[in-house]
Amino acid sequence: MTAMTLTEKILARHAGRDGVRPGDNIWVDVDVLMTHDVCGPGTIGIFKQHFGKGARVWDASKVVIIPDHYIFTADKMANRNVDVLRDFAAEQKLPYFYDVNTPRYKGVCHIALPEEGHTRPGEVLLGTDSHTCTAGAFGEFATGVGNTDAGFVMGTGKIWLRVPETMRFVFHGNLPPYLMAKDLILAVIGDIGCDGATYRAMEFDGDGVYALNIEERMTLCNMVIEAGGKNGLIAPDEATLAYVDARNAGRKAYTALKSDAGAAYCFEKVYDVTKMEPVVARPHSPDNKATVREERGTKLDRAYIGSCTGGKMTDFRAAARILKGRKVKIDTFVVPATTEVRRQLQTEELNGQVLESVFLEAGAKIGEASCAACLGGPIDTFGRLNEAISCISTTNRNFPGRMGHKQARVFLASPLTVAASALTGVITDPREVMQ
Ligand code: SF4
Repeated sequence: MTAMTLTEKILARHAGRDGVRPGDNIWVDVDVLMTHDVCGPGTIGIFKQHFGKGARVWDASKVVIIPDHYIFTADKMANRNVDVLRDFAAEQKLPYFYDVNTPRYKGVCHIALPEEGHTRPGEVLLGTDSHTCTAGAFGEFATGVGNTDAGFVMGTGKIWLRVPETMRFVFHGNLPPYLMAKDLILAVIGDIGCDGATYRAMEFDGDGVYALNIEERMTLCNMVIEAGGKNGLIAPDEATLAYVDARNAGRKAYTALKSDAGAAYCFEKVYDVTKMEPVVARPHSPDNKATVREERGTKLDRAYIGSCTGGKMTDFRAAARILKGRKVKIDTFVVPATTEVRRQLQTEELNGQVLESVFLEAGAKIGEASCAACLGGPIDTFGRLNEAISCISTTNRNFPGRMGHKQARVFLASPLTVAASALTGVITDPREVMQ
């Protein structure tokens, strides 16, 4: 068999074949299926409809259920969704159910999955959420599926897939202190467009990628779906293996793979990160790219730091560096992705001050770990844009209505740029305020 990309190698192994080619349709064995409170009830309904009321999931140790979206709300329908998950997890005796209002509650699924050890190199991870691609940062094939596919996987552990072509994005150089992975991925999406990677794998490579920590690599892979990508991935290195081995749920054996020399890519683009600039995506599309300098001075009403893209410790460390000892000028919402991040905000210090206190003293409000306003949510959702205001956000989508009000304007940016803009009330290049 000729050389294969990392995506092709993973899919071939999970199809029990020596090799696959882009365009091949194959049955793939699934290692982990994740669902949450928005799509879980629908998935469970389809599973029961097709496999029977008393059916058992194909492998209870491979189904992970993480309520995270509409959690801290009085909305009865949203609460009912979590009840459905709770009943199902009890009925199926699922060991990996991270229930609300218990010590096991985690928050945003894509960050909870690696924290709880459900991401491993070489595996196939499916989730009923488009940002499941985040886990490609661990060198696995991770992609979002609809409720129908997920219901079928729940019953069989298999999915019918077409092997995607692979695009390669190479980053060279060490990131300057005013740039983050968010700037890199917004630049890529701006360059290739929201449909630039439709049904393709986006593989990230180069010394600039391997200089990023695991959380930043997750940010890169998180947003491949905003370019239409089927999956994003980064071959594992020692940092990946150290993270995975410290958390691996069930201590499962895994195989770290990388693309073969000479593997065929359908596209390649090379970036020198030392020459890149802080970037924003203007309303109302993640590919509506501008440099922060071009948008400098645009008036804002709100800043939001959170989500699977921008609510990890690396994101909050960056924002805190900007906000420490200063006051925000506009409403600023801080939402940790997970309870683990929330706890760390209460213990980790920046020059003798815990990060939580840095944010509170700056005038920001801190919410509970969850998706919160990233997806709008019920009207009482923390940080939701309930009016037609302008917001700069570390989240990953800015389509009309995404964070609430349909006329609200959302600018996507790095935590550094969001924090800098929170201080001034206008879009601000972090270089202007870095301490
Ligand atoms: S934080 Fe936002 S993008 Fe991430 S899973 Fe939640 S709603 Fe989706």
